[in-house]
Amino acid sequence: MKNNSIKTLVRENILQLQPYISFRDHNEFNAPVMLDANESPFGECNRYPDSTQKRLKSKLAGLKKVSPSQIAIGNGSDELIDLIVKIFCEPKKDAILMMNPSFAMYGFYAAINENKVSKLNLDENFEIVKDNFLKAAEDPSLKIFFLCSPNNPTGNSVDDIEFYLQNFNGIVVVDEAYIEFSGKKSSLELLGQYSNLIVLQTFSKAWGFAGARVGMAYASEEIITLINTVKAPYNVNVLSQELILKTLEEENKLQENVTHILEERTWLKLQFEGITCIKKVFSTDANFFLIRMENVDNVYAKMLGEEILTSRRDPAIPGCIRINVGNRAENEKLINLLKEI
Ligand SMILES: *Cc1c(COP(=O)(O)O)cnc(C)c1O
Repeated sequence: MKNNSIKTLVRENILQLQPYISFRDHNEFNAPVMLDANESPFGECNRYPDSTQKRLKSKLAGLKKVSPSQIAIGNGSDELIDLIVKIFCEPKKDAILMMNPSFAMYGFYAAINENKVSKLNLDENFEIVKDNFLKAAEDPSLKIFFLCSPNNPTGNSVDDIEFYLQNFNGIVVVDEAYIEFSGKKSSLELLGQYSNLIVLQTFSKAWGFAGARVGMAYASEEIITLINTVKAPYNVNVLSQELILKTLEEENKLQENVTHILEERTWLKLQFEGITCIKKVFSTDANFFLIRMENVDNVYAKMLGEEILTSRRDPAIPGCIRINVGNRAENEKLINLLKEI
């Protein structure tokens, strides 16, 4: 970012907001008598969750080597994308920039907030053309660049993230939903250098907790305070907070899951080689493959007929289907069917 301070990027009404702070945020959470929140004294989940997610943040801070004040927790990273758009983009006035193709949710939340969505078309290898980026970035209405690395649905990582941080006059959100599969360095280590950086991570993919809806934003304390100000106080429920805290105690679990998925990814890639309806398997840093098929209509219909769900990307990405890495039984079923076609 060249000269903007973060404050000049924030919507005026958001700057004026006072965060909702419950009495409990300042006090001992488990008082012996809690008659302040109109809860029931009975039941197994009768208390509101900790709105500051203190224990979770403290655990994550240790794991990621950041301060708890640099972490915001959302109801999935989807919620954080929504909040980030709301904080920085004035409805009907400001715009976001996203790669094309990339994760549809950036455009979805921008549209809800009535913000224009500028799309930066990737080249035939799904890489960003830097000159095109520089040209697009000149638009003064742009407030946020959503940079997805590894990118969904293409699977490749974005190189030279610092170039975009330096040459975008706004917030750069690096969405690292698949970083655990990539072997690449996280942009978390750039947090100290770039005040306009937000890194998103999630428990939904490598960690295996898509159903719990827990995602993180890592950024400067200034940005995190803004996110905490606009979020719904009780956005992450008690059960999910407990579940994630428990899984964070099992230190080797993540690595075991990732290793297993990567082994299956290698196995699948090998199997794809002998299959005639496959024209091209794009290289991937994630837990899925983007695959160009011969006669994609037919292949997709046959898979659906056998109740194998995949994500059709055609016609936006011609001939392509995104298929994620499953367990061995699922992968074998897929391969056996593809061999038949
Ligand atoms: C799956 C995914 C997410 C995760 O969203 P959650 O709301 O945390 O489940 C975020 N970004 C991208 C690019 C994804 O593919």
